[in-house]
Amino acid sequence: MKNIILIAPPQAGKGTIAELLNKKYALAHISTGDILRDVASGNDEIGVYVQETMSQGAFIKDEIIYQLLEKRLQEPDCKNGYVLDGFPRNMEQAEKYEEILNVIHQKIGIVIVIDVDKELLRRRVTGRRICKECDAIFNINFEEKMPRYESVCDKCGGELYQRSDDNLEAFETRYQTYLDVTKPIIDYYTEKGIVAHIDGNNGLDEMLKSLETIITGKKVNE
Ligand code: AMP
Repeated sequence: MKNIILIAPPQAGKGTIAELLNKKYALAHISTGDILRDVASGNDEIGVYVQETMSQGAFIKDEIIYQLLEKRLQEPDCKNGYVLDGFPRNMEQAEKYEEILNVIHQKIGIVIVIDVDKELLRRRVTGRRICKECDAIFNINFEEKMPRYESVCDKCGGELYQRSDDNLEAFETRYQTYLDVTKPIIDYYTEKGIVAHIDGNNGLDEMLKSLETIITGKKVNE
């Protein structure tokens, strides 16, 4: 199975898609955001730096990312392919990634870009609520995802919270950074002929259909 790089603006559904790819194709799901949230839960110097930087919607220093990623990519579950969710995010990271690939003898694989309108993303980000107990995700801006009570989990009764970077200000920063810094990577990979786009505006089922076409090789020819 090919390795996959998922590129998308914040809250486009990268994490959900990566999880589905993990279940269906046994591709390891590597989310740099999740790895960093783990680091941020520590009270040491690096934990505090990561926590503060993430809550502003800014990028963590590249050197920290490389160390964490290189270690993660060498874990056994990555041998048969993996999905990168949240990396690379700038051209320096894209170039460094190719060096890392040489060291670990892996191939770049394919790049899947999820395209979603900004207004839809803004509503998703500002409405997202997560259960502290069972991690269930709700959204107070979409009727079909609303919890019955604004701060209580429908599934387990746990308290719902808002991720520190799920606020409007951080979203605007993250979205602008996506346009300025992350989008140029798409052009770089497009020139290599390894990019496929999926439309993320029409819900998960539509995204999954497009994904199948890509994974089964009908859309991207390496
Ligand atoms: P995500 O969960 O992918 O939306 O990432 C959440 C936050 O983690 C981002 O806003 C950044 O602060 C940080 N982050 C995740 N991946 C990277 C990366 N590759 N480089 C720098 N910062 C990152």
